[in-house]
Amino acid sequence: MATPSESHAAKDEGVKDHNNKTLLQSNALYQYILETSVYPREPEAMKELRHITAKHPWNGMAVAADEAQFLNMILKLMNAKRTLEIGVFTGYSLLATALALPEDGQILAIDPDRKNYELGLPVIEKAGVAHKIDFRESQALPILDQLMQEEKYRGWFDFVFVDADKENYMNYHKRVVELVRVGGVIGYDNTLWGGTVAAETEYPLSEYVMELKGRFLELNRHLAADPRIEICQLSISDGLTLCRRVS
Ligand code: SAH
Ligand code: CA
Repeated sequence: MATPSESHAAKDEGVKDHNNKTLLQSNALYQYILETSVYPREPEAMKELRHITAKHPWNGMAVAADEAQFLNMILKLMNAKRTLEIGVFTGYSLLATALALPEDGQILAIDPDRKNYELGLPVIEKAGVAHKIDFRESQALPILDQLMQEEKYRGWFDFVFVDADKENYMNYHKRVVELVRVGGVIGYDNTLWGGTVAAETEYPLSEYVMELKGRFLELNRHLAADPRIEICQLSISDGLTLCRRVS
């Protein structure tokens, strides 16, 4: 969604990339973070897929480069081995995940749109991590319901990244909170929704943005009150809420 920095392209070899989104007040500060700490340490494959994704008309859907770096780091800190991703797009956050997992790591990745995933797949294959990915071309809910029916999958995942249709986040939460292990983490993306959850905007918001703003207000209240999890609201990118399952 539109953010204050949208008109400002990241200075990365002249490529207008999709990662110029931030809730930080100054674009200069965001550029500083990208250029000082993110791009210099970015794996070649991540860079390649970032550039491919930047050319897609919906490039704003992928996580920003600093958030990808964060996901990669937290997965390593957790020694995550089994993860679930809801909402794949070109596979940018998926690649950040696959690169963080051990050789025998497993990612269940769900998206009804295989075409966009196939844009990133050659890069994922070249990076030697495609064997970790089980891509399911489907809406997420039916698959989650299947998993819920198998005892084996209760508490199965170390990490779950939810970044798909925002209308369903509450429905996803009902399920993934039982599919993640106690001590495991769920990440909900876009939970600050461009800042609209709190800010009085001077411009009118579209019906779509307003509707989802309501959903995020509800979700954020709900997560804060759920005794099964501890939470941490990060203001990275468009807002990322980490939930650690405690019971
Ligand atoms: N996580 C990706 C971006 C995902 S964009 C990244 O950061 O790189 C959101 C994706 O959710 C889109 O590709 C869209 O096809 C997918 N999506 C939409 N509805 C969905 C559903 N019901 N279940 C799973 N994925 C869905
Ligand atoms: Ca997102």
